[in-house]
Parts: sequence; structure tokens; C-alpha cells
Amino acid sequence: MTRNLDFYRNLPPKECRECGDIMEEQAESYIYECQRCFGRKHE
Ligand SMILES: [Zn+2]
Repeated sequence: MTRNLDFYRNLPPKECRECGDIMEEQAESYIYECQRCFGRKHE
């Protein structure tokens, strides 16, 4: 089971596709924008 842990640990940081900021707190794989850009679009 350690393989799975290694896989997640080696994932690259997610970047906002709008502004390129690193989204360290966004674990959801279906979110591609940081809070700032997401809020701007969906307010
Ligand atoms: Zn952004």
C-alpha cells in the first residue's frame, strides 16, 4: 500500500489555469482555478 502514498506524495503542485498560482489547499481534482479566479467567475 506504500505505493499509493508515494504516488500522491509525488504529485506536482496544482496551478490555477487562469493566473498560474499554486493551489496548495485545493485537493479537489475537478477544480482548475484558484479561489480568487473561481470566485471572480462564479460570483
Ligand atoms: Zn487564479
